[in-house]
Amino acid sequence: MKECEYRQIPPGIAGPVPGTVASSPPPAAGLERSGTTRRPRRKWEVFPGRNRFYCGGRLMLARHSGVFALTLGLILATSGLFFAFDCPFLASHLTLAIPIIAAVLFFFVISCLLQTSFRDPGILPRATPSEAADLEKRIDSMGTSTYRPPARTMEVVINKYVVKLKYCYTCKMFRPPRTSHCSVCDNCVERFDHHCPWVGNCVGKRNYRYFYAFILSLSFLTAFIFACVVTHLTLRSQTDGFLTTLKTTPASVLELVICFFSVWSILGLSGFHTYLVASNLTTNEDIKGSWSNKRGSEFANPYSHKSILTNCCAVLCGPFHPSLIDRRGFIQPDVGTPASPKSEIPSFGAKADTSMEDACQDFAISCTA
Ligand SMILES: [Zn+2]
Ligand SMILES: [Zn+2]
Repeated sequence: MKECEYRQIPPGIAGPVPGTVASSPPPAAGLERSGTTRRPRRKWEVFPGRNRFYCGGRLMLARHSGVFALTLGLILATSGLFFAFDCPFLASHLTLAIPIIAAVLFFFVISCLLQTSFRDPGILPRATPSEAADLEKRIDSMGTSTYRPPARTMEVVINKYVVKLKYCYTCKMFRPPRTSHCSVCDNCVERFDHHCPWVGNCVGKRNYRYFYAFILSLSFLTAFIFACVVTHLTLRSQTDGFLTTLKTTPASVLELVICFFSVWSILGLSGFHTYLVASNLTTNEDIKGSWSNKRGSEFANPYSHKSILTNCCAVLCGPFHPSLIDRRGFIQPDVGTPASPKSEIPSFGAKADTSMEDACQDFAISCTA
């Protein structure tokens, strides 16, 4: 029965961080031997999540960012074709305002996309080995009277509603409200909305407003290009004939096809996120039905301000939050690296993090049976 109890995590148990070389003997924490001099290492170099860093840690992206390159390529290609093949005709036959409006929208879309993709979405730093050990000790002290491992949840009251906090076995901490662990990036993200492969990043507390501005402005840009290309083809076909126009303007036809097939999904996504912003909900909460009305009014969304305007202001115009992971900071030798998921005790095998709580309960039941 003793074997079923939780063991504490010793402070020095965290193994080498994936992606770093563990030499024997290992170099002192925070220092890397390079020839005869030791270079202090920055936190992004040993960051435990599955992210890529660029420009000395200033920019970050999820590891698999191929779809992000596709998004960027599609926007650049469609807009480039529009500026090259449609704008000269429309500017000379209609008005110069068309290329100007398109250029403003285009630069706004690209800047919002890059802000969403390369920003820290609101990652919470993992607990250091000593913090994890301290929390393990406190959890152990809560459950010494029974043979069952203590439940790894904590209840807090938010706006008179009881919200349950779950323990993250990877980050070794109780997740704050609205925080979820992204299985793609392997990080706990505050006000986690979803992981978006199209922008190559999680969408969370620190980049949601840019993501919303991106999809909304992209809807306008796509609809604008579509309408302008239709106008261009209609004007040309009045003099050249419809079939001749299609043959002589293949770039415009390609833009028309791309815009036609993408505008519906982008408009739908913008509408869905407008509903989420107005209700102060996240995609994660909406999919899980966390505050669904069918469960009774006592489960209403505790974060809603009960007013659409206030919710919109709170989500889109709230204060900017600083990044908590300090990825450009130097590693302090006495703090050590954050707890690695490889040092998990007890071990339940390589299960996904979301099922770890369930695995914990199953494990406890099988031990007491
Ligand atoms: Zn986590
Ligand atoms: Zn993610």
